[in-house]
Amino acid sequence: MVRFQNVTKRYGALTVLDDLNLDIAEGEMVSIIGPSGSGKTTVLRMLMLERIQGGVIYVDGKPLTHMQQRGRLVQASEKYLRQAREPVGMCFQHFNLFPHMTALQNCMEGPVQVLGMSKKNARERSEELLELVGLIDKKDQHPSRLSGGQQQRVAIARALAMRPKVLLLDEVTSALDPEVIGEVTEVIKGLVSAHNLTIMMVTHQMGFAREISDRVCFFFGGKIEEQGAPADLFDNPQRERTQQFLSAVK
Ligand code: ATP
Repeated sequence: MVRFQNVTKRYGALTVLDDLNLDIAEGEMVSIIGPSGSGKTTVLRMLMLERIQGGVIYVDGKPLTHMQQRGRLVQASEKYLRQAREPVGMCFQHFNLFPHMTALQNCMEGPVQVLGMSKKNARERSEELLELVGLIDKKDQHPSRLSGGQQQRVAIARALAMRPKVLLLDEVTSALDPEVIGEVTEVIKGLVSAHNLTIMMVTHQMGFAREISDRVCFFFGGKIEEQGAPADLFDNPQRERTQQFLSAVK
């Protein structure tokens, strides 16, 4: 579903992703862990926001960063990029909800404005999703009247309203008070078990990554230092850097 092929990302002289190769299957849940500055967030951002300096990224078999021209791959135009990125949804650490809209309006906005869905259909879909994240009773509240955990659940519903094939979750529990982290992780667990969504999640919560991931990738210096099934990576890390990181965060 997602393929990073020899992907290099630089900011000026700083190489943040260094010849990255990563394949993620449809329906797979992959967690990305690693020290601060190792490039975790950048991996997700490459699917949504930014251009890369080397390699190609594919989503659902289609090049995302490039387009075909006379049988060759060339840098994608802005218009192509906007379309190619439609199957990708993202939730951030800071929920970025529209403050002047209710929970329901936040969810309906993308389907109506971007996908051209009728208001009636967008409302039905958004209500289903608010039900899914346990917030249907809060649908008419503005974000300022919701707790951090509730806002993040609305943000997840809003991302799902766009019917993404791939959902990116970037430290979605990092800005939350400890007592509401559980309600957000429960929603994500539900998504993993009930939907055939492909999910890439950056997290600092090792217990959560272990519990829900099919695969965990440990990033170091813009590369995947080690990856594997959670039980293997967490209980029996092979690389010294992985061992050091895991013993420091335990
Ligand atoms: P953290 O766990 O602290 O969020 P991370 O592993 O997600 O870290 P990234 O946010 O991917 O790390 O950043 C990787 C490197 O790229 C860092 O050195 C960061 O300073 C740099 N970087 C990220 N975005 C930019 C930018 N827009 N311009 C310049 N440098 C950037």
